[in-house]
Amino acid sequence: MLTDDFKPTPYWWEGLPPPSAEPAEPPARADVAVIGGGFTGLSAALTLARAGRQTVVFDADAIGHGASSRNAGAVTRMLHTGFAHMAERMSRAQFGALTKEAADAFETVRDLIERERIPCDWRMSGRFLAAASRAHAHNLRVEMDFMQNFSGVQCRWLDAADQGQEYGTRNGAGGVVVDGTAVLHPGKLVHNMAARVVMADAVLAPSCRVLSVARERDGFKLTHALGKTKVRDVVVATNGYADGLVPHFRRRVLPVQATMMATEPVSPELLKRAIPNGRMVIDSRRAWRYLRPSPDGTRLLFGSLSGYRDNDMPRMARRLHAEMADSLPDFAGVKISHCWGGMLGLSFDRIPHVGVHDGMHYALAMNGTGVPVGTHLGRKIALRLLGSPEGRTAYDDLPFPTRPTYNGNPWFVPWIARWWRFRDRFDP
Ligand SMILES: Cc1cc2nc3c(=O)[nH]c(=O)nc-3n(C[C@H](O)[C@H](O)[C@H](O)COP(=O)(O)OP(=O)(O)OC[C@H]3O[C@@H](n4cnc5c(N)ncnc54)[C@H](O)[C@@H]3O)c2cc1C
Repeated sequence: MLTDDFKPTPYWWEGLPPPSAEPAEPPARADVAVIGGGFTGLSAALTLARAGRQTVVFDADAIGHGASSRNAGAVTRMLHTGFAHMAERMSRAQFGALTKEAADAFETVRDLIERERIPCDWRMSGRFLAAASRAHAHNLRVEMDFMQNFSGVQCRWLDAADQGQEYGTRNGAGGVVVDGTAVLHPGKLVHNMAARVVMADAVLAPSCRVLSVARERDGFKLTHALGKTKVRDVVVATNGYADGLVPHFRRRVLPVQATMMATEPVSPELLKRAIPNGRMVIDSRRAWRYLRPSPDGTRLLFGSLSGYRDNDMPRMARRLHAEMADSLPDFAGVKISHCWGGMLGLSFDRIPHVGVHDGMHYALAMNGTGVPVGTHLGRKIALRLLGSPEGRTAYDDLPFPTRPTYNGNPWFVPWIARWWRFRDRFDP
């Protein structure tokens, strides 16, 4: 089931590992410290450095080593929470503003890629949202109306009998074809964003975990793996990799593992049977299954939400392989060349959050949409720090919920993920 040269690392790192993990000496003083070197932190750093602010990006590991070089590369115009679910919980005006800004985030990434001339295999693929059961099909139809009205995308419904036009699964119940969304190579994007940040004269400090942040009269003192740095402002962009640095955030962002794998190269015919139009496919299971062709069109990339942290990648690959074979029996004999995991950051309300806590700016809880939303909110934080009115977002001032008994230890996440999988199996 695994190729002889199987690698327990992201396919995206092939020929392009995340930028060097060599420790760089962070300066003793700077204007802004950005904690977390993924899309969110790099986007903030790029905007700040271009405006002349001395900026240092700290990452506990290599820059881009977190979810930003491990995801599926889908660039959506929506949030991951259901529209209907969101609309029930808020006023129509607020709902409209949040959904509009999720769509704007798509444009932020597209603009960034065009403006900075970032080669990252951008393709306007569209997506197919596949109903995993008849009950899910009913819910997806409701979602489709919201999408058309609020996200600026063209959608159409495909019945189960026609589903093979988009997704060659054996157990589908129809789904929505969505135009106007894209896929890209996340490894190339994060790699090139880091390069642009350096060109803008910011300092990257990989392998330099920030251990504490102390508030002082005129700013903050950071203690990190290589010493101390004094800054005027701090941006926290640690999403699903948040450690105990700021307990307030740890109690609000649930780290949930998602896993992906790449198959060995397969024939174009086989790939075309699975995803005839090369779209990003996401099914409606609670434990999400998602798949797409590799940018060079030779492999299938397949993933799901595993929930538990398991570093035994051959074992994870076997589990994912079983899911792939369940969805796409034609792939049962195809071997796996890469399997990797990454941490999503989910909030309890499934909405991204941006704001200021104890004087520190943050953009957290990307809820599986960080390629556009992290890039967008990172830029917004920077604009806010620069005093620009463009720094305002519809996500400002939303209460960032936790649970009274949740102390930041997500011991229950694997159990919830198991429960989701159990329910997914028996949905009508
Ligand atoms: C398998 C998988 C598939 C996904 N698919 C998609 C998709 O198709 N489309 C999409 O939009 N999103 C997707 N996502 C989610 C997306 O990858 C994330 O939302 C996004 O990368 C978050 O970016 P970020 O910069 O906020 O955080 P990250 O990229 O996770 O970066 C956070 C960084 O903070 C660092 N850090 C943490 N604590 C400290 C500290 N104390 N000091 C210094 N550094 C610290 C970590 O080392 C880490 O590098 C997926 C995620 C996974 C795991």
